[in-house]
Parts: sequence; C-alpha cells; structure tokens
Amino acid sequence: MSLAVYSHPDMLGHDAGHAHPEQPARLTAVVDALRDGAPGLDWREAPLAAREDLARVHPDRYVEALLQAAPREGRVQLDPDTALSPGSLPAALRAAGAVIEAVRATGRGEHAVSFCAVRPPGHHAEPERAMGFCLFSSVAAAVRVAQAEGIAQRVAVVDFDVHHGNGTQAVFESDPDVLFLSIHQAPLYPGTGDPSETGVGNVVNATAPPNAPRELWRRLFETRLMPELDAFAPELILVSAGFDAHARDPLAQQQLEGEDFAWATRAILDVARARAGGRVVSSLEGGYDLQALGRSALAHVQALREG
Ligand SMILES: [Zn+2]
Repeated sequence: MSLAVYSHPDMLGHDAGHAHPEQPARLTAVVDALRDGAPGLDWREAPLAAREDLARVHPDRYVEALLQAAPREGRVQLDPDTALSPGSLPAALRAAGAVIEAVRATGRGEHAVSFCAVRPPGHHAEPERAMGFCLFSSVAAAVRVAQAEGIAQRVAVVDFDVHHGNGTQAVFESDPDVLFLSIHQAPLYPGTGDPSETGVGNVVNATAPPNAPRELWRRLFETRLMPELDAFAPELILVSAGFDAHARDPLAQQQLEGEDFAWATRAILDVARARAGGRVVSSLEGGYDLQALGRSALAHVQALREG
C-alpha cells in the first residue's frame, strides 16, 4: 500500500502577514520535497472540515466568531502573531479536514499510515482561543472523530514540534482515553508544558534546554515518551509533526537533523505495529527554515513509508 498524503492548494491562501515565518512557501517546500524525493505517494485532496466535526473541540460560538472576523481584504490580527486573511479559513478548514479525513480513511481500512501536508498548524489552538499561528486544533478534532465514530477509543498523540502543544493538551488533559506526549524546548513559546503538567496521568511533557545536544533530545524521546506510548497500548496514534527542532530553524535553538526525525518516526511506528495495528496519522505542525523543513518532512515521510 502506498503512503497516503493529504493536502490542498487552498492552504497556500492563508497569509499571516509580511515576512511572517508561517508563510505559504512552507507548504510548497514540503510538497515539492515529497514530490521530488518520494515518487509514488498516494496524493489525496484534503476536504473542508465540517462544522459538526470542529464542534467536537471548538464551541460553535468560537467557529462562528472566526467566520465573522474573516476579512474580505487585508488582514485581521487575532493575537500578536496570529492573523486572518481572506484565504485563512478555507486553509484552516482544509488543514483540519485533512487530518479528520485521514483518520476516517484509516477507519475504513484504506491505509494504515498517512501524512497530512497542511498549514496553518493546529497544536496551539485552544478550544476558544486562536494563538501561535493556529486557528483550529486539527489533530484534537481528528482524535474526537476517531472516538465518536468507533475508529479508536484509546488514542495517543505524539507531538515532537519544538513548541509545547498547549492546545492539544488543553483538550485532553482530563480524558484518560487519550495520551498526550510532547517533547519541546523550554524555555520557549508558549511557556506551558512543564514536566509537572501530567493531566490525569495521561499527559507527559519532556523538555530540552536551548542548545541541547541531539543525543539529549533522542534520549528524552526514547526514555520519557516511547515507554509511555507502548504502555498505553493505543488503538491509533496521531503525530503532531513539527520540524522546528531542526538545527537550522530560526524560531528555536535545538540541534536536530533530518535523520533524527526519521529515527523518531521509526520509534513511533515500532509501537504502532506492536499496539495499534500499525495505524498512524501524522500531521505537519511547525518548521520555519524552508530547506530544513523540506528535508525533514521528506525524511519523516520516507520513514513512515517503511511502516
Ligand atoms: Zn513549533
């Protein structure tokens, strides 16, 4: 079975502002790297997320307020680094729709492993608050769809973006059926994700200091995250795949290379094969150096493909 990849050109239409790091060229860099470096992928069109699926995470008044705020021209600033342009909601709805559809297709047995090449990212969006370049909590909504439709009850989310996934944690921190595992740099935006934040025993936060050697990041991933993932025995694993822990990334100070993301991906797949019938849905989050982002996403997808 070839690896399914969900994307859509509408996601190029979100313009967060001049010289904003979360730029349309990010998606182009990822898509080009995958088309050139991984021929034969099963490219699929990301649908728009349905309101009732978003409502599993975001109250309808929040979605309605975003739709009302969307400008016909120019930009509306939601917080110092999160803005709406005329193309933002179609983009964000496709991003969430991609992850939701990938989960549903997993449930239908169409594929075990898939990747969503999407923007804007989602893991900072809280149920009633857009922040950190994120509008909808795409991965969280997809987890809720998996549960509601009987695709999987016990679901794990592995977030290796260099920033803490505060939005995902906010959705699940009191739900023992969902395990949230995050490795991120501290101190760094958004400032949450201390290892003392453990939810109801279902949240694991591992933190690396600025300029941590790659070996430390790997050790934390291997010793803090993977044993918890295995012990939880999830029926489905979602990955918040941010590539901003790369050494070249301008928004953080980690030292990873593309091969580290491939290594982490293989570790997740090992658990998926043992526990979850090999079922993994991965979704792009951050990554702001275009060259590093393309290479890292390709390394991740090639590792996923081996699964
Ligand atoms: Zn990030």
